[in-house]
Order: sequence, then C-alpha cells, then structure tokens
Amino acid sequence: MDIIEGPVTELSFSSGIMEYRKTEEWFVFHKKYSTDRQRKGDSSMEILRCEGVRKVYGLGGSQVTALDGIDLSIEKGEFVAVVGASGSGKSTLLHILGSVDRPTDGKVIVDGMDLSGLNQTQAAIFRRRKVGLVYQFYNLIPTLTVRKNILMPLALDKKKPSQEYFEKVVASLGIADRLEAMPNQLSGGQQQRVAIARSLIYRPALLLADEPTGNLDQKNTREVLDMLKLSHRNLGQTILIITHDENVALEAERILTLEDGRIIGDERRR
Ligand code: ADP
Ligand code: MG
Repeated sequence: MDIIEGPVTELSFSSGIMEYRKTEEWFVFHKKYSTDRQRKGDSSMEILRCEGVRKVYGLGGSQVTALDGIDLSIEKGEFVAVVGASGSGKSTLLHILGSVDRPTDGKVIVDGMDLSGLNQTQAAIFRRRKVGLVYQFYNLIPTLTVRKNILMPLALDKKKPSQEYFEKVVASLGIADRLEAMPNQLSGGQQQRVAIARSLIYRPALLLADEPTGNLDQKNTREVLDMLKLSHRNLGQTILIITHDENVALEAERILTLEDGRIIGDERRR
C-alpha cells in the first residue's frame, strides 16, 4: 500500500486501531489531493494561491480585521520575504497558510489542495506533512539529541527517513557533525538550523518562518540566512519568511509588504 509521499523508505503499520485510522484518513486525504492535482493539470508551477482571504478576530464592537482581502500566488521554489509594521497581519497570514488557523472568508490552495475542504484531522496531517513552520524560538526538545529532534515529525508518524535525504538536509544546514549533541550544547544559530532541519524533514511544500532570526545576533542571523538560502538552492525549497530586518528581506527574491491586512507591495527582485 504505497500511499505516502515524501522521504519515506519504510512504513511500520502497527495493527493498532489508532494507526489504522490514521492511515485511512491519509488515504482519503491523499486520494482527494491527487484528483485535485490531476483536474488542475500539473503543469502549473504554482504552489500557493490565496483568493480574497480575510481574517476577522473577535465579535461585535471589538472586532479586528487582521487580513483584509489577500490575493496571492507563489510559485514552487520562490524565496519570499514578508515585511510590514507590527500588527499588519504577517503572523496571521502565515498561520492561515500553514493551516494553523482558518480564514473568515476566502480560499487558500497549497500544492493543489484547497485547505477549506479539510476537517480537523486532515488539517493536522496537512500541517505535519506539507508545511514546515519555524518560529523565533526553536522549540527543540532539550532531552533529545539533535538527530532525534530532527526526526521527531517522522517518529510521530512511526516512519523512517530516507537516509540520503536526511544526510542532504543536515549537510545543507551545516549540522552533520553535531547530530549526537544535545540542543543546549549548540549556539543559537545552530539550534535554529536544527529547527529548520526538523521542518524540512517531511519535504514540505512550503517552509513558513516567522521572524526566525528575531532572537539571534548578527553572526548567527547570517548563519541561519545562509542555510535557508542553501536549502532553497540545493533542495529547491519554497520559503516564506516574515522579517522586520531589512537586510534579511533583501536576501529574498521577492518582497511582499503588508499594511493593515492588505498587500501594498509585491516586488520581484531578480
Ligand atoms: P504581525 O505579525 O504583522 O505583527 P498579527 O498577524 O500578529 O500581526 O496581528 C494582526 C492584527 O490582528 C493585530 O491587530 C493583532 O492585534 C490582531 N490579532 C492577532 N491575533 C489575534 C487574536 N488571536 N485575537 C485577536 N486579535 C488578534
Ligand atoms: Mg507577528
């Protein structure tokens, strides 16, 4: 039964009911996903599409419109920076693209799949397998080695990685020689690179990063950026990175500027 995409060489199906149910869900999910893609024709390089996305928080008089009509198309392999003042809706947008949150209105399609059609279980599976989320704080598990931290998303699904892909990721991120170290033995920049490796291990359609260098000094920021660029170049990874650091934004191929929940700038730089 070959129903899982990605860096999987071996699957262990325990006979437990939970595992079976998870598999059934994924099968339905995967079938819908493949049909959607076939219907669309797979010639398009578009990996992300938003149409009229709005997000309103709160009720009655205390409503806040965090996103106010976002239309956006991103192609496979693009490296996009999202900039804008605090409160302009950057994190909200990222959460909606990552299926962490749902829009009030509008449509989000990632890798041919309409996110509004997913139930809660499917959304959780989507999050784990199709997007990589990286935050300012690395959220590594302090009692596990670097290697085990990176493999955690696969372990949660009782899957084994493709050794070749694992090696490529850790080499690209410059942490191949630190795999048996514990997180607290690493610098901030190294820890963030471990978090990025963990988010890449499923070969996500999108890597979404919210201020990933916000907690780092200049040297570590440089390190993390270089590694993101390398994963973009070597693995063809599509990346959306939120930043308030102009130097970080200037590394991207495309800069989206948000203001009051709207895209007011979309600049392609090369
Ligand atoms: P940014 O990441 O650009 O700083 P956010 O997306 O976090 O902006 O926030 C956009 C707007 O939505 C802000 O006005 C913020 O206060 C509001 N907001 C964000 N999250 C919530 C929430 N969970 N409940 C209510 N308002 C929120
Ligand atoms: Mg934010």
